[in-house]
Amino acid sequence: MSEINQLNYRELSEQQLTGQCNEHIHYLTETVGINIDMLQAWIDMEEAANKEGISLAIASGFRSAQRQLSLWNAKFCGKNNIKNLAGENVDTLNLSEQEKITAILLYSALPGASRHHWGTDIDVYAANLLPESTKLQLEPWEYASDGPFASLTSWLREHSKSFGFYFPYDKYRNGIAIEPWHLSYMPLAANYQQQLNVILLQQTIEQFDILGKNTIIEYLPVIYQKFITNIANNSITNNK
Ligand SMILES: [Zn+2]
Repeated sequence: MSEINQLNYRELSEQQLTGQCNEHIHYLTETVGINIDMLQAWIDMEEAANKEGISLAIASGFRSAQRQLSLWNAKFCGKNNIKNLAGENVDTLNLSEQEKITAILLYSALPGASRHHWGTDIDVYAANLLPESTKLQLEPWEYASDGPFASLTSWLREHSKSFGFYFPYDKYRNGIAIEPWHLSYMPLAANYQQQLNVILLQQTIEQFDILGKNTIIEYLPVIYQKFITNIANNSITNNK
């Protein structure tokens, strides 16, 4: 692990860090892109998984702030449903803006603050384990010990760490919901996370055409603590 921690990395510009450009992204397919400095680690892990009969695949890699913004606004205005932890639709009629923002953040990152902006974070599945004529849902049951991706989950738990990857949303911490499909490339992401602070986020949000803007900015320090830094520990941030 120490070798991985000492990896040379390029700092991201503020534009890259907040998803406003994609110069740090290498596209594996037309739609799936990952951080250039993570490419080799991904290839190594993919090959190792393949040898064990798991066709490791990326459902979602880099996501731009613009994309995250349209997801956000669609939920905020009621065009798309907001789900609670039980998977039920939230009735937003009597919610304050602050409550609505908190409800959205359970499953959707704040535009500008998504780890998917960095290209270090990927939602993975096993293409060969997805039952025929079934669509990937990215729901926890698929990754559970009785779900189709059970062997993927146990392989990743045992081996992803040796390639530098970990699960930032391994359990619910009263912030973001559990995401057993979301892997993060720690040698890069831990550094990017330290670059991303409340001031930069506020400057970013101010430029966005985002619904709930004033309330988001008012509660940004709380959002930052509850939904951005409130994740599984990783060794780099532990040491500082
Ligand atoms: Zn994700």
